[in-house]
Amino acid sequence: MESRRIIIFDTTLRDGEQSPGASLDVQQKLMIAHQLARLNVDVIEAGFPVSSPAQFEAVKLIAEKVEGPTVAGLARAVAMDIDRCWEALKNAKKPRIHTFIGTSTVHIEKKFRKSEDEILEMARQAVKRARSYCDDVEFSPEDSARTGKAFLFRIIEAAIDAGATVINVPDTVGYSFPAEFGNLIDEIFKKVPNMHNAILSVHCHNDLGLAVANSLAAIANGAQQVECTINGIGERAGNASLEEIVMALKVRKDEFKADTGIQTEEIYRTSKMVSHQTGIMVQPNKAIVGANAFAHESGIHQDAVLKDKNTYEIMTPESVGLSSNKIVLGRHSGRHGLKSRLETLGYNLSPAELNLAYEQFLKIADKKKEVFDDDLEAMIESDIYKGKKIIELNYFHISSGNHLVPTATVGLSVEGVAYQEAACGDGPVDAAFNAIDRVTRLSVQLEDYQLHSVTSGKNALGEVIVKIANNGFQITGHGASTDVIEASIKAYLDAINRLMIKLRKSNDHN
Ligand SMILES: [Zn+2]
Repeated sequence: MESRRIIIFDTTLRDGEQSPGASLDVQQKLMIAHQLARLNVDVIEAGFPVSSPAQFEAVKLIAEKVEGPTVAGLARAVAMDIDRCWEALKNAKKPRIHTFIGTSTVHIEKKFRKSEDEILEMARQAVKRARSYCDDVEFSPEDSARTGKAFLFRIIEAAIDAGATVINVPDTVGYSFPAEFGNLIDEIFKKVPNMHNAILSVHCHNDLGLAVANSLAAIANGAQQVECTINGIGERAGNASLEEIVMALKVRKDEFKADTGIQTEEIYRTSKMVSHQTGIMVQPNKAIVGANAFAHESGIHQDAVLKDKNTYEIMTPESVGLSSNKIVLGRHSGRHGLKSRLETLGYNLSPAELNLAYEQFLKIADKKKEVFDDDLEAMIESDIYKGKKIIELNYFHISSGNHLVPTATVGLSVEGVAYQEAACGDGPVDAAFNAIDRVTRLSVQLEDYQLHSVTSGKNALGEVIVKIANNGFQITGHGASTDVIEASIKAYLDAINRLMIKLRKSNDHN
């Protein structure tokens, strides 16, 4: 039997970014969008332009800069949202306006206080307006899984009639279960007379842990598009996880007879980037991308896997981009070797970025001797792909020990002006952060601090993720170095930079 092509609609940057504590700034979103393009998703939902100036800017930038996938923006079914959405998307090569309205009884009666006919008319007008701008229009009856079926079929038919090219059926509150959700999709195909004129999509939430199962049930019943996020992040318990859906379709092709365009070898790297940038770590036992997903602990299993991988592995770690760590660079690899390795990894740097990367690479190679792909990725995320820098580290000095008060001196430049401050603290990292605070005079709360090693061994690169809060903003910073104190300072300064840029922008808007 011929296999079907499933459209992968990634909403990491829209729904995923609505995860509690995951706020990403424009530069972080652009970096992730470039990686999603390398992963070869079909559609990137880049944000909700009307919701804030920062959202608008991110969607606009991604629409202009990221090549390959269709770029979608979200809009409520009102003229103002749709106009603003188009304003952000209009320079994309392949733009899509995604408009939605709540259709369940509880949404209609409690949220809108309108009749079904009024809601249907709003949907029709919204789709028409979106189509006046753009040939690719997606319509979502929000909370479909709890919407009365007669009305759901009616509004889908009306939206397609008005020009919707994609109909998305969301289980907004994660209420459905696979057999039920699969039946709903089947019924839509049977009861909506013009359904064959549009693509049927699903968007499942994970409140009962069924988002992936429900999405697969929908595919089995003919759905052509799935909406999902990297690591399954999203509102509340999250969305269907992209990597799980994609690998389920790949491993069980016998059952689903469906393909995706996903470059599965990019999955692991994308997962790491999203967790570093959002600060939302992946649980070790998470399917596909968890640290233990391919670890065989039992001796019997280990022995069997060494004899034949098929004994306990249904897919190889290589197929999701794990243990592609075979290529090792060293000091002698030179600028050219570094450039070509980075290109293979999908990073096309400008000459200035390459210079900076080479400088950082030599520092790492001096300390570590062997530089792996994971180290290069951490370095790129930590040192190269950064937006404008207001504040930079010149030097630091720490004195610490179990019988003396940890003290730090830091030299920073703030827009080219050099400052030096010293402070003590509970430990060397705390002392360094206190010294930085003395320079910036910002009172920031450190909400989270995580340290882990990028590769194994004593000289491994340490990677630090910090979360800070100030003035209602919550910001994540990321830093990597062979020295954990330096990695901590870099992560803290990364967050402070992002905070300063946000504070300036919010002042501009007031
Ligand atoms: Zn959602």
